[in-house]
Amino acid sequence: MRELVTKRKKELISFLVFLIFLTLMLNTVADWIYKRGLIELKVQGNLRLELYINYLQGVLGKYESLPQLLAIDSNLVRTLSNPLEANRIETLNKYLETINRVSDALDTYLMNKDGLTIAASNWNEKHPFVGRNFSFRPYFKDAMRGKLGRYFAIGTTSSKRGYYFAYPVRKDDEILGAVVIKIDIDTIEQKWAHRDESFLVSDPDGVIFITTTPEWRYKTLRPLLPNVLKSIEENRRYPDASLTPLAEASSTYEEDVQILTIDEGKGTRKKRVMKQSQMMPHAGWDVHILSDTQELKTRALVVNILIALGLTVLFVIVLLLIQRKNRQAELDRIERESKKALREANELLETRVLERTLQLTETNELLRQEILDRKQTEVKLKRTRKELIHAAKLAVLGQMSAGINHELNQPLAAIRSYTDNGKQFLKKGRMDEAMWNLEQIGELTERMAQIGVQLKLFSKKSSGQIVAVPLHGVIDGALEILNPSLKKAGVVTNINISPENLEVRANNVLLQQVLVNLISNALQAMDGQKEKVIMIECIGVDERVVVAVEDNGPGVAEAHLQEIFEPFFTTKKSGQGLGLGLTISNRIIREFGGRLHLVRNMGGARFEFILERIQ
Ligand code: ADP
Repeated sequence: MRELVTKRKKELISFLVFLIFLTLMLNTVADWIYKRGLIELKVQGNLRLELYINYLQGVLGKYESLPQLLAIDSNLVRTLSNPLEANRIETLNKYLETINRVSDALDTYLMNKDGLTIAASNWNEKHPFVGRNFSFRPYFKDAMRGKLGRYFAIGTTSSKRGYYFAYPVRKDDEILGAVVIKIDIDTIEQKWAHRDESFLVSDPDGVIFITTTPEWRYKTLRPLLPNVLKSIEENRRYPDASLTPLAEASSTYEEDVQILTIDEGKGTRKKRVMKQSQMMPHAGWDVHILSDTQELKTRALVVNILIALGLTVLFVIVLLLIQRKNRQAELDRIERESKKALREANELLETRVLERTLQLTETNELLRQEILDRKQTEVKLKRTRKELIHAAKLAVLGQMSAGINHELNQPLAAIRSYTDNGKQFLKKGRMDEAMWNLEQIGELTERMAQIGVQLKLFSKKSSGQIVAVPLHGVIDGALEILNPSLKKAGVVTNINISPENLEVRANNVLLQQVLVNLISNALQAMDGQKEKVIMIECIGVDERVVVAVEDNGPGVAEAHLQEIFEPFFTTKKSGQGLGLGLTISNRIIREFGGRLHLVRNMGGARFEFILERIQ
């Protein structure tokens, strides 16, 4: 916004400067054209003035010598000598009339020494000069002084303008009178009228008496002094003429050159003219040419208009060019700036990409290191696990050995006792009792064989044959195995089989193993407790049988719920548990098509599984 205002300001200033320059320039040019025009006008005026003067001199020259010729005419001398001879005068009148006609003069007449006209060419006209006295005229006075008289005046009789030549008529040395020729001025004026410039002829007093502009006639070129006015009146030179100054103002341009301001009245514009003057010494005239300077003004105006137009167009073009250049410069600047910004953004981006790449590389390196660490940890873990498994296996082995030892020792001790009893009964011949003892031995060996099967679980994948297993028998078998421990701990066992003869699809030994595990866990959980109750429930529901082992122990801690079925998870002291009991049991139940799970109840733990019922 500020830039725009500055720009506008600059434009305004340059426009003002241009205006000032234009005004000065136009002024100078106008002045120069005007002055130059004046010089041209002056040169032309001089030439024309010269021509005009030549013409005037020619006209005057034609008549100048005529009075002198007539003065020596004997007729005139004689008539002046004998003025009373009427017939002589008549002859002279006719003579003068002829001379006048031939010479194309206005009037030719003869005056005696008193100034009285005694013969005239216009003797026969309405207002003849004959008998009139013109002694007051200066030309008469000059002639009477023996000189050629010249004079311009308006005729007192004819009221017609004329130029007079008078010459003395002498007899011997005596001046008898004067012969006068009046020539016509109108023709001189008319011949040079209708031109651009005006010609003036003024008398020594400055009164214009010949002019190609009739309105200027009898105006004066300078104000007349009272004595001059008086003399004009006395000579009756310009009767009834106003004799007012022609110019309203005048200024001298050069010697003999003046600029006049003429008010022509009639509501028209004042005219400025250049006046050039030259003397005609013989005639006693001043001849002037007045050239109109208006044309110069018009010329200056036209040139000024053209220059103003040209300069304005030039100014506008220059302004447009400057504006274009400025706009281009602005565009260039914007382009440069945007390129720079782009370059900077690019550089920034590159730097960021570089930084990011560096970070990523570092992160990558860290990740790689982490992966390496993890791998190493994994290896360590695997090794540790292997070691653990190994240790566990050894522990299992130890426990199992203890278990096997315990399991086998019990039947073995029983067998030994049955064998001793059998022997005694055989010795006594009590065959039935001996037989019963043998049967018991047989059953015990069968049980020992079953222990072997259980041990195979760890080496064999197969779970053995699945058949119809009566739950009653399995539960009894399991309780029998654990009987010593249960008794020792003082556990109350509640068995609820509904219906009584419930059978399931399973393997007798494996199912017994599961029950042994669950009951052992319950037993162990209730260790140290005053009241120890284990409930074994088998409920047949349609096609299925729900088997549950429940105790009134502390139950499974919330934190261990997810882990108890994991292999090797145990909360028991070393040597007491391996953390395999629930894992193996679950695996066995899965092989029977069920799933072992912990049922959460108010107190204690309840492990449940569902088996396929055999009807
Ligand atoms: P072990 O008996 O060798 O510890 P198990 O797999 O049989 O291994 O049992 C895993 C764990 O489950 C036990 O250490 C014990 O914390 C928990 N547990 C199992 N049965 C019960 C139960 N009846 N009452 C409370 N906790 C039990």
